[in-house]
Amino acid sequence: MDGEEFKVRGREMVDYIVQYLDQIDSRRVTPGIEPGYLRNLIPAEPPQEPEPWENVMKDVEDKIMVGMTHWQHPRFHAYFPAGNSYPSILADMLSDAIGCVGFSWAAAPACTELETIVLDWLGKVVGLPSSFLSMSPTSKGGGVIQSCASECVLDCLLAARAQAIKDLKAKYGEHVEETSLLSKLMAYCSREAHSCVEKAAMISFVKLRILEPDHNNELRGDILKQAMDEDMKNGLHPFFVSTTLGTTGCCAFDRLDEIGPICKANNVWLHVDGSYAGNAFICPEFRYLMKGIEFADSFNFNPNKWMLVNFDCSTMWVKDRFKLTQALVVDPLYLQHSYSESAIDYRHWGIPLSRRFRALKLWFVIRNYGVSGLQEYIRNHCRLAKVFESKVREDSRFKVMNDVKVGLVCFRLLGGNKLNKKLLTTINASGKLHMVPANMNDIFVIRFCVCAPNATEEDIDIAWDIIKEEAEKLLSEEKLNQSALASVRDRQEGVKLEIRGDSDEKKEEEEETGKFEENQLEVIKQTLERKASKNLEHKRSFFVRMVSDPKLYNPHIVKPLVEQAESRVSDEQLLLSPLAHDNPNGRPKAKSEDREMQSSSWISWPMAMLGGNAGPMEEVNVRFRNWNTTFSLSPHSGSTNSSSPSSPINNGRTKMENDRVYVTSPTPTSIAPRVRSASV
Ligand code: PLP
Repeated sequence: MDGEEFKVRGREMVDYIVQYLDQIDSRRVTPGIEPGYLRNLIPAEPPQEPEPWENVMKDVEDKIMVGMTHWQHPRFHAYFPAGNSYPSILADMLSDAIGCVGFSWAAAPACTELETIVLDWLGKVVGLPSSFLSMSPTSKGGGVIQSCASECVLDCLLAARAQAIKDLKAKYGEHVEETSLLSKLMAYCSREAHSCVEKAAMISFVKLRILEPDHNNELRGDILKQAMDEDMKNGLHPFFVSTTLGTTGCCAFDRLDEIGPICKANNVWLHVDGSYAGNAFICPEFRYLMKGIEFADSFNFNPNKWMLVNFDCSTMWVKDRFKLTQALVVDPLYLQHSYSESAIDYRHWGIPLSRRFRALKLWFVIRNYGVSGLQEYIRNHCRLAKVFESKVREDSRFKVMNDVKVGLVCFRLLGGNKLNKKLLTTINASGKLHMVPANMNDIFVIRFCVCAPNATEEDIDIAWDIIKEEAEKLLSEEKLNQSALASVRDRQEGVKLEIRGDSDEKKEEEEETGKFEENQLEVIKQTLERKASKNLEHKRSFFVRMVSDPKLYNPHIVKPLVEQAESRVSDEQLLLSPLAHDNPNGRPKAKSEDREMQSSSWISWPMAMLGGNAGPMEEVNVRFRNWNTTFSLSPHSGSTNSSSPSSPINNGRTKMENDRVYVTSPTPTSIAPRVRSASV
């Protein structure tokens, strides 16, 4: 394709894009296809010869678009928004055309300098303290664009880890092995933190203590302090706390004002992940939610979620850029340049060497909308979330489950977890509306997030009508099922009487074993299910199983929690209980709650801690990701360790025996009562 043809095709593409976005509501929001659908539509081998452009574009419409979930669709209310706007698309086009690789100032000076300037702009407009900005004369801070929030969390954890190892070496002597020190490090986050924190801890080879938030799903200072004190008593070294402003499940806000002073007092790196809700701080009225931000060492949010910027654009600020780069700097000769001392080289601020020119789209969007335009966009979404919330509240069949502070409403239909799961499944399978679930205190809730860039009140009305309509169908089906089951029971009574006179041995036998009753019930159940699926056009689609964060979104993974919850909190309790935020004592206490609270945190151990040998001692359940197992911690290790007797540094040892893992604890420990095996 030469420049002349590009002009033609480019214009066609712009037309296609505008038409796609303008008429997106004529499509299903989720596709009606199953995994593997594309294999049958695309040849197994690539073409040997060039193909006409028209054929490629025809396939885009016929084969690709039919397999898309349309994130910009007005009926898309799942996850969080995926930022999108024309100025951002244009900037990405230009960035692609420039095609630079901005790993150092010299490799792409404007790319580097624009990033620094725009991050200072953005830091100022979201109300970050000046210590996070590059251009403030006394500041050591600065901002950088990463590809995603997960990367920001990992980078900050790596920086905190490097700092902690440095501090411990200074304390215990240079001769102490880094690996010994590593085994003492403990990171912390809330149970509601995104799973990327756990992934970062896994990658970084550090233990992560996952703490219980309060009844509003906020991580509080006292819980953190208790855990840290306990760990320090056991010779462990708290070094990193990852907090969230706007959790993925229900958009709760951890209490930085309580957590910050604890981190400061213990010289612990405090990271703040504001992936979605951090965007709202562009509006001053939401900044009360970031109270305590001055204690943070690092902060990130994703303009590519909620600030009209296309993926990828995750902005991150640190208070001390030297602490960040010390952890990540490698400087081979071929990447050095004569301005290395005086200019920023963003390759030292993250993991990848190569970097796109992402500042361009942030710059275009901020200039095209202005701060006031971006504020208006955020405020509109928050207002619409409130409109949706009031509709749910007005309908006594439903209940709002979270404290709606920004653009996310969590709700459920009164009537049990199974019913809600069925409601969500049915709605998603209809292709008319897309939402995902979350697990709130072991209760299955449906998340409704305002996502479409130009969302209106009419969109909220349409969504609510769809939800109500599906709920009504479901409730009448349920009623029908119940009366059908009651009549089956009556009929069975009659059948039993008949059978009594029947000489058929098989039936006698079946009845004796209870199988006959079971079979009859099964037949009726199947008939009812067939009827329901026909009536509700209940098509199974793999999209109802869609996952982003399996812990929160995948109904199959949520299942065990949900079933567990059903036995713990009844619907009556839910109905009678005020909303968590209205009730200072929180949700109703389930029978087992007191016991559970005592063992309410668990530790995600790096797999690499396995190895070595020791004998079994007291048993503790410890969670490895995707692997629940039983650990035996031995309080006084007989392990051979090379550290000095005066130092608390001595290695834990592990061995496997009959599917069990035995660990000798690095130090005398009382961790056991607070560690539990997680159910997901
Ligand atoms: N943190 C929070 C609070 C999130 O909600 C999410 C995703 O929704 C992430 C981190 C992960 O974001 P990313 O996909 O940018 O890594």
